[in-house]
Amino acid sequence: MDTKTAEREDNRKREWSLQDFEIGRPLGKGKFGRVYLVREVESKHPVALKIIFKEQIEKYKIQHQLRREMEIQSSLRHPNILRLYGWFHDDERIFLILEYAHRGELYRELRKHRRFTEQQAATYIASLTNALAYCHENHVIHRDIKPENLLLDHEGRLKIGDFGWSVQSRSKRHTMCGTLDYLAPEMVENKEHDYAVDNWTLGILCYEFLYGAPPFEAESQKDTFRRIMKVDLSFPSAPSISAEAKHLISRLLVKDSSKRLSLQKIMEHPWIIKNANPRGTCDI
Ligand code: ATP
Ligand code: MG
Repeated sequence: MDTKTAEREDNRKREWSLQDFEIGRPLGKGKFGRVYLVREVESKHPVALKIIFKEQIEKYKIQHQLRREMEIQSSLRHPNILRLYGWFHDDERIFLILEYAHRGELYRELRKHRRFTEQQAATYIASLTNALAYCHENHVIHRDIKPENLLLDHEGRLKIGDFGWSVQSRSKRHTMCGTLDYLAPEMVENKEHDYAVDNWTLGILCYEFLYGAPPFEAESQKDTFRRIMKVDLSFPSAPSISAEAKHLISRLLVKDSSKRLSLQKIMEHPWIIKNANPRGTCDI
């Protein structure tokens, strides 16, 4: 946003309303609402407006979760985390003013290209690692990192888009959440877990980016569960992937969470050093 918008954003007395935006095309539809491309009338700045119906929120009793999601996301400032500039509401709806991710979902790109090059994959993993390090410094565990929640801006820079399941905490947590394929063993077992669950997920994503499918994919949930618990990891011979990439993946998909590579060590890993674009941008 430009300075004027930022000034208004900081000026708590002036609140946003629907009149401040020109509504454009729909960008997508989520579980709880729709997202539109809109333009802030004064600055002409494009942003994404997420509209959520209060009735839905009340029906699923997620008022507190949403409030927490909004507070966390609006407090974070990182180039790889989608900004939440502010929010407002009317009788029926809640409106979230979000940074616009021009190129949409990373997932769509992955499905379109089937898999990413090692340079692309390393750039995305480095961006995610940086964003997660920043989250962890601010005592936020994301826990719902998966391709659907990752968006791309106009330069192909990765943005973590959703904080639905994140938790702001200094302590270990005991909750079941997330999608099975991306879950760490300690979460599948509903054991205590901590920041290291995100490191596991980085291993899963790195594998999926390079091979086109997550490593423990199976016919049934039960089999995926079993494969995760055994850490039944194998690397197909095709496509041909570098030994360094496989090394990084094997050092992240480790059952004992205390033995997984740290975020710092991921950033120093030879595969990342060799392949990641330090600017974080990616041409596809
Ligand atoms: P959930 O309700 O759990 O968040 P979701 O992530 O599928 O579900 P939304 O976050 O509402 O749904 O977003 C719906 C779709 O709109 C996204 O999948 C994405 O394609 C698009 N979208 C959302 N936010 C933005 C954004 N800031 N910029 C561009 N596209 C967006
Ligand atoms: Mg979402």
